[in-house]
Amino acid sequence: MTEIDVLAGLVGAGDVVVLSGAGLSTESGIPDYRGPSGAARRHTPMTYQAFTGDPDARRRYWARSHLGWRLIARAVPNAGHRAVARLQHAGLVGGIITQNVDGLHTAAGSSGVVELHGRLDEVICLDCGNLTSREELDRRLREANPGFAAQVAHVNPDGDVDLPDGAVAGFRTLDCGVCGTGMLKPDVVFFGETVPASRVADCFALVERARALLVLGSSLTVMSGRRFVIRAAKLGIPVAIVNQGPTRGDGHATVRVDRPLGEVLPALADRIGAPAVSGVAGEPAAV
Ligand SMILES: [Zn+2]
Repeated sequence: MTEIDVLAGLVGAGDVVVLSGAGLSTESGIPDYRGPSGAARRHTPMTYQAFTGDPDARRRYWARSHLGWRLIARAVPNAGHRAVARLQHAGLVGGIITQNVDGLHTAAGSSGVVELHGRLDEVICLDCGNLTSREELDRRLREANPGFAAQVAHVNPDGDVDLPDGAVAGFRTLDCGVCGTGMLKPDVVFFGETVPASRVADCFALVERARALLVLGSSLTVMSGRRFVIRAAKLGIPVAIVNQGPTRGDGHATVRVDRPLGEVLPALADRIGAPAVSGVAGEPAAV
């Protein structure tokens, strides 16, 4: 029996909870800074403390993110996201938890996705709590920074890019358009910030009800995702991991598949007989 046979057996039995990470979105052009090709990220990730406490750090974040957003906004779901949606529509998936902030599961036709680290396409005011779309903020930022253009050399999964400090100095950041003075922050969980407790509890509840946990494209480096694998293992729930390269959950895995997700997942959905989901972003046009 091959590893794909074992995987198909687990997923085909249904009640699977998916836990996905950056490796699922690399084939959509969003780099995985922890994966085999990404190595270490080019600069330290912004922490919540630096973002809220240091106006220069905040300006640097928004200037880089303003450029990186174009790439994230253009990204479309890949074959892996579409295969997950097929498995869900076939009634085999009891829940989807993602560490990704790109919204691509939902764009692929999946529903009820728990976005553990939030969504990059939403912006929150830290004073009044108002939520606005990133598209709207992008329009305001472009108006406030006419002609701001720099070479996008490298984009991290959180939409951050490399940009010389000199180019950042003149960038104008914006406050909340509703209360007028509130600090705006992408509605994602920064380093140094904790995931809301209710969201974590929802994820544990999903995992505890699952017949199997399917990890897709995560090296499980951070405890934020790894704790669900540990919980499943503790409860005797089988853990299947599809990821390129080793993960920190390998010791708990019933089966490991170390191959590209865009190849493994459609083959898995075909084999189980999950029909295609039509009319979603990234779907190849019918001929
Ligand atoms: Zn506000």
